[in-house]
Amino acid sequence: MSTFDTNLEHLAGADTTRALEIAPRVWWVGHILEDDIFQCHVYLIEQGDQSVLIDPGSLLTFPATLEKIEEVIPFANIRYFVCHHQDPDIAASLPMIDALVRRPDAVVVTHWRAQALLKHYGIKMPFWLVDQNDWRLALEDRELRFIFTPYAHFPGAICSFDASTGVLFSSDIFGGFTERPALVAQDESYFESMRPFHEHYMPSPDILDFALRRIAEHPVRIIAPQHGSIIPERLVAFMTGALRHLDCGIYLHAQGNTDIQRLSRLNTTLREITQTMLLYRDFRDIADRLRQVVSRNLPVERIDYYARLEDDSVLALTHENRFSGISGEAPTAVAALMGQDREDWRALHRDHPTMRGHVLHSDTFRAGPAEHGGLVVTLPLFSPSHQVIEAVALIHLADVVDLTPDEEQVICQIAMPLQVALEREVIYRSIDAKRREAYQRSIRDSLTGLFNRLYMQDVMKRQCRIHDRDPNAGVTAIMIDIDHFKAINDTYGHVVGDEALKHVAERLQGCSRETDVLVRFGGEEFILYLIGTAPSEASAQAERIRSTIEERGIGLDDGRRLAITVSLGVATRVQKEPLEDLIRRADEALYRAKKAGRNRCESA
Ligand code: GH3
Ligand code: MG
Ligand code: MG
Repeated sequence: MSTFDTNLEHLAGADTTRALEIAPRVWWVGHILEDDIFQCHVYLIEQGDQSVLIDPGSLLTFPATLEKIEEVIPFANIRYFVCHHQDPDIAASLPMIDALVRRPDAVVVTHWRAQALLKHYGIKMPFWLVDQNDWRLALEDRELRFIFTPYAHFPGAICSFDASTGVLFSSDIFGGFTERPALVAQDESYFESMRPFHEHYMPSPDILDFALRRIAEHPVRIIAPQHGSIIPERLVAFMTGALRHLDCGIYLHAQGNTDIQRLSRLNTTLREITQTMLLYRDFRDIADRLRQVVSRNLPVERIDYYARLEDDSVLALTHENRFSGISGEAPTAVAALMGQDREDWRALHRDHPTMRGHVLHSDTFRAGPAEHGGLVVTLPLFSPSHQVIEAVALIHLADVVDLTPDEEQVICQIAMPLQVALEREVIYRSIDAKRREAYQRSIRDSLTGLFNRLYMQDVMKRQCRIHDRDPNAGVTAIMIDIDHFKAINDTYGHVVGDEALKHVAERLQGCSRETDVLVRFGGEEFILYLIGTAPSEASAQAERIRSTIEERGIGLDDGRRLAITVSLGVATRVQKEPLEDLIRRADEALYRAKKAGRNRCESA
């Protein structure tokens, strides 16, 4: 491979009214049309009387191209006229060329699919088809290899690669729109000229990727596209890599709108919205990202969300509560929208075309003055299944702006992902609430609300292990049994008995600290576990419980007072002692308290 300046420094700011050599014996002979973002780059490979002209150009540009060719070689030296595809800016000059060519061996080099169209120019020159010639053309000092890039812009599209210089004549691929034409791309920013062209006119990422992979099989050093800028060696890898990650086929969405720079910007926003949904699960992250994305198009101050929960309460995910979500109040106007269907929403605006200055936009949202200045956009979010409003987003804007169609589209576009995100959030929350509820039910006694034995086993066994490692985390069990409880049942009935149990439980709760564990152990038996409490302090605590219950008795719901006493047995755990043994010792102490006359405390 020959050595030459592959970074094309000599071409920066070169005079484009002249032929310019971009690689050894490879010349740019194109013509830059005024006020045309599509350039017409034509290349000449100088090969004596076997020279090659690549993508000859149109009737508008060919006279200038001819002059440039003649600066390098006589036109008659050209034998091969390569047409990478059949577009008029590449091939419309063929009849003009056909009239100039005198030699009988001159040919149009193309793919059979392009030939099927190019023949309609009615030219006499014969075709030389790449697909019938092993996809290569041997020249005097080099070989041209043809790369099949179908459907990237035409079913029979090809590119040409000059193996001796490493120049890829890439036709439309790597082409760009350049407002101010620059023959050579200066830096990575050229990608932004390529981006909209490829995003829109390359039909899909798969098709473009196929072409790029075929191109990558060749050691490309310079990319010479048919329009845009020539890409020097130092930028080849970057441009190729960036193109491979590009979304294509946006033109499908363009419909009537052909300002593709604008569509490209909008597409970036929409893509970010989709990506946000794919990347993030937590609503806080989603809300944060969406605000950033929307902020690029609108002066957003904050966005608040309200979602209806199963029990018709409202989950408020607001800027104020940092989207943690609290069951709260929705603003009246928002609350009024919940549960409405699309027809209600439309009717609301039909009957009040300007709801206090609110304007309905495209059925999807409404905008109106905010209470404290600025503009508030109300975006109802319909449930996909029932098509009723299940959530509302309030987008607060700093200024009273007239929304442009682009801004309207961004707002419309965030509706669907937001609906999904909020619905997911509501489901998460209700599952979470149900799980918490089920857990609470499984660990608590239903009558008194105290922890049950199941929970006790779990927590106290863990606490015992901690105590085994740390003597300061001692465990004391106070077993409490109501005296003559059977008599209460017998005298007042079971219902009053239950009520009495509840009151004793409450009283015990009142006597315990946050770190204590209070359990309903059996019928009218309770255990209070004290953690890290000295034995003497534990006995004092047991005595306090006994005297409190004795002194205060129990007030029933109907106003009666019930005298009641309890007996208590206290046992302090020794390290390594099994929980069952500790409970048994407390129970034995309790038995002694009963034996000794009840309404008293005994220690093990
Ligand atoms: P002692 O002073 O010896 O402890 O006498 P006691 O009557 O309290 O003891 P005993 O064990 O003989 O009776 C306990 C009673 O508690 C028997 C049972 O009917 C009653 N009981 C147990 N669980 C409940 C409950 O959930 N509700 C009601 N109302 N009574 C219960
Ligand atoms: Mg009892
Ligand atoms: Mg008992």
